[in-house]
Amino acid sequence: MLKEIEKNVKGCQKCRLYKTALNPVPGEGSKFPKIVFVGEAPGKYEDESGRPFVGRAGKFLDTLLGKIGYKREEVWIGNVIKHRPPENRDPLPDEIAACKEYLTLQLQILSPTLIVTLGRFAMNYFYPEGKISRDRGRLIRAGGYNIFPIYHPAAGLRNPRMLEALEEDFMRIPAVLKKINQGDFERDSEVKEDDKSADGQLHLL
Ligand code: SF4
Repeated sequence: MLKEIEKNVKGCQKCRLYKTALNPVPGEGSKFPKIVFVGEAPGKYEDESGRPFVGRAGKFLDTLLGKIGYKREEVWIGNVIKHRPPENRDPLPDEIAACKEYLTLQLQILSPTLIVTLGRFAMNYFYPEGKISRDRGRLIRAGGYNIFPIYHPAAGLRNPRMLEALEEDFMRIPAVLKKINQGDFERDSEVKEDDKSADGQLHLL
């Protein structure tokens, strides 16, 4: 079924982005991942190779994964948008809407315990009211998934303050997973039910 989605992405012409991209980047990794990483859209190197997170930011992501004891092939990595926007511009609303079904279906099949969103754009895909500077490093229940927003590795490489926050949040991923697996999740949900924010989302950490 994942292969079927990849095939559909490869032949997709539902928005204009396929016209300027070199290759589609459907996403890749374990078929049974506990953790899924979701970024915004392919960049230059991803467009050239057809693989997600293979440039400088991707190598940094691999390094961070190694620090928490994971290999790239043990997780799944993908993007909200499957073809590179020209000059890395922000994806447009109609492009996001057109591409939405692919990630939605991929996540239904992968059924991860935790989705780590990389950067503001990916966080807002699941949690539109979110603010990355406020919500990064918090476990959020949104859209039926456990979402853990962190800064994008590219932002970390550009900005020392974000780098520190990114590394700090990344190192907490195993503890967040453990918390979910131990069922602390439900207890926290009850405790924090009173703290439900105005946007109606539960902030669990
Ligand atoms: S970006 Fe998404 S919707 Fe647009 S052509 Fe590519 S796969 Fe299709």
